[in-house]
Formats: sequence, structure tokens, C-alpha cells
Amino acid sequence: MSWPGARVWLHDFAPAYPAVFVVGALQCWRFQRTRLLFAMIVLVMADRVLLHFAAGVDAAIPPGSVVLSAVALLLPLNLIGFAMVPERGAFTLTGLVQWTAIFVQPALVIQLVRSGETLPGLLNATLVDPSYFAFLRIPQLAMLFFIIAFVVLVSQLIWEPSEERKALVWALVAGFLAVNTGEGGLDSTSYFATSALMLVLAVIDVSFRLAYQDALTALPTRRGFNEMLAQMVGHYTVAMVDVDHFKSFNDRHGHEVGDQVLRMVAAEIGKVGGGGKPFRYGGEEFAIIFDGKRVEDVQPHIEKLRSTIAGRVFTIRGAFRPRKKPDQPKEPKKPRKTLKITVSIGAADSTDPKESSEDVVKAADQCLYRAKETGRNKVWVRARPRI
Ligand code: GH3
Ligand code: MG
Ligand code: MG
Repeated sequence: MSWPGARVWLHDFAPAYPAVFVVGALQCWRFQRTRLLFAMIVLVMADRVLLHFAAGVDAAIPPGSVVLSAVALLLPLNLIGFAMVPERGAFTLTGLVQWTAIFVQPALVIQLVRSGETLPGLLNATLVDPSYFAFLRIPQLAMLFFIIAFVVLVSQLIWEPSEERKALVWALVAGFLAVNTGEGGLDSTSYFATSALMLVLAVIDVSFRLAYQDALTALPTRRGFNEMLAQMVGHYTVAMVDVDHFKSFNDRHGHEVGDQVLRMVAAEIGKVGGGGKPFRYGGEEFAIIFDGKRVEDVQPHIEKLRSTIAGRVFTIRGAFRPRKKPDQPKEPKKPRKTLKITVSIGAADSTDPKESSEDVVKAADQCLYRAKETGRNKVWVRARPRI
């Protein structure tokens, strides 16, 4: 299959490819994504090794299938390896082993080619009738490795979905297309660069999430709240939500259970009606911005949110673990214990044009304070005469 338009387009960007690799590697370094960093380095090396021989740089070595086959066999194995090794940083023992593996491989491939030896027969073995794989320019065993790597990476993606895992799958596919061009050159470099670009996009996604998405609740963070608030014009309402007596809840049930409850409370806040956009403001406090809404439009929705949380029974994994070993033999399993929690909510809107957004937030905070003062598990809104 050929796609001449895309090819020309990709070739036009060839001068930018090294920049893609460098920027990507720096981003991976900065955000401590060693898995993506190593994957990117391997892709660059595969590209450079193929180019080196294809361009006839090393005149003593005829460009040929040995180097291509070796790269095709090693690439999927490396990607599986990086995907399976836990993220431990580039300068740890695990990192050191990976660095060593990365730099030993091209040296071995070059050595193999220089020695004039061919790949051992097994590596070039014909496993199935080649007529079924007429498109294949790499050894069948390499194709098998690519298939195994694909299955492993896709399984990991299903098990633990993330942009990073998705990017590794695409990197593998683009890596296959690169080596299956059958030669080093602009075509394979284009595919390798695309492959690296997938990893760059993943690391950009990681950096965005670190800044804008709360790791515990997956809600947008306070940074997102401040940015949305700064863009507000006209009517809007800010609601501040705070979990009641959360300190003593943590003391009684443990921080881990507290975390689980925060996640569940966040999930309820995420479902708030009235077009509210929720944020984790900090600790056990959340904020909701209702764009274009007055406080009276919002009140039924935040009242419903409060009553939903108050009425919810949270079933907690691993809760109520006894601190001391029981003296008695184990009792038969009791049904899981359940917990309840309440929140207080304060809300204010922006109907006075002289008031800054910080003042609206402050007013919502004061309402929250009033809701706490008057008994908690309450909604308190700022009421004032409309102009
Ligand atoms: P009030 O009803 O007045 O809001 O009382 P409170 O105990 O909820 O308020 P306080 O501000 O005294 O305590 C907040 C607690 O929230 C203290 C802190 O340990 C807990 N907390 C904050 N962030 C987290 C978190 O991410 N996980 C867990 N488990 N607890 C948290
Ligand atoms: Mg609280
Ligand atoms: Mg608080």
C-alpha cells in the first residue's frame, strides 16, 4: 500500500525529526518518564543504525538484510522489556541495567555486520508459508516478536489504561512499519519519527495531567479553577464544598479509608447538575463554578448534591482492620461495614459588577463557614437584593 501524498508531506518534515527526538527525550527526562525515554532512545538508535548502513557510510559493509533483521528482532523485544519494567527512574540499578542493554545492542549489531557473519539460521527461519506474508520484508520470527509485543502492550493498556501505554502500542506499530520498509532511509525515518512523536504526545499529556488533574480524585486542580475563574464574565456562581469532621473521620478509620471516601465524594461532586464544573480546591475542599448561573438557579443542584452525599452509604475496601491481633479465633465473615459522611456547601454569585472573582470566592467561603457554624451538612448561599 502506498500513500504518496502523505509520504511527500512526511519527507518535507524530515529536517524536524531530530528535533522531535530531542524535545521528546528532554520532556521524558523532565517528567521522569524513563519508560518513554528509553523507548524513544531505542527508536532513535534503530533509525540511526539503519541509516548508517543504508547510506553506505560504512563502506566496508554492504547494506543488507542482516542489520535490518537484527533491528527488526530487537525492537519489539526492547519495547516489551521497557513496558514490563516498573518505572523506577533512569539513575537506579534498574535504570543502569536498561542503559547498558540499550547501548550494548547496537554495538553487537555493528559487530555482527562487520564480522560478515549472517544471522543464525533460527533467526531467519521460515515458520509459515511465505506466500501468506508477501508484504513482509523482515524475518518471520521478528514478525512473531512484533505480534507478541502487540498482544503484551495491548493487554497492559486494557489492564491499566493510560496515554503512556497507548503511545507504546502506537510506537510499536510505527516501529514495525519503519523496519518493514526493508531499508533505512526517509521512509523508515518518517515512521520512526512518527513513532517517537506518539511518545512525545504521551509525555505532553503526562505533564498536562500533573499540572491540571488531581491524582487522587481525577478532578481538575486548583490551577484549573483559578484559570477558569479568571475567564469568567457576567453571571456565575462559585460553590465551595467541604467534608464535615474529616479530621476525626481520618483519625477513626485511617488515612487510606479517608482517601477512598474523598474519591467517592469527588465522584458525586462530578455529577452535580446545573452545568457545574467541579475542581479539587485542596485537601477535603472542592469548588464548583456554575458559568452563566445565579445562585438561586444553582441552589437546588447543590442542595441535591448535599443530600445525595448525606444519603450515600460508602462501602469501603479493607476498612475496620483491627489494630491488634484478635485473641479469639477468626469469626465467620461479617457483611462489609459501611460508612456515612456529610458535606457543607457555601455559594455566592457575581451579580455585582464591582466585585472581583476573588471576592466572590471569599463570599462563598464565608457562606461555607456559616454552613459549618449552623450545624454542618448544610447549604448556605449569599442572599442579597438584586439590582
Ligand atoms: P470541618 O467539619 O470543620 O471541616 O472539620 P474537618 O475535620 O473536616 O476540618 P479540618 O480542616 O480540621 O481537617 C481537614 C482534614 O482533612 C485534615 C486532613 O488530615 C484531611 N485531609 C486533607 N486532605 C486529605 C487527603 O488527601 N486524604 C485524606 N485521607 N485526608 C485528607
Ligand atoms: Mg472539613
Ligand atoms: Mg477544610
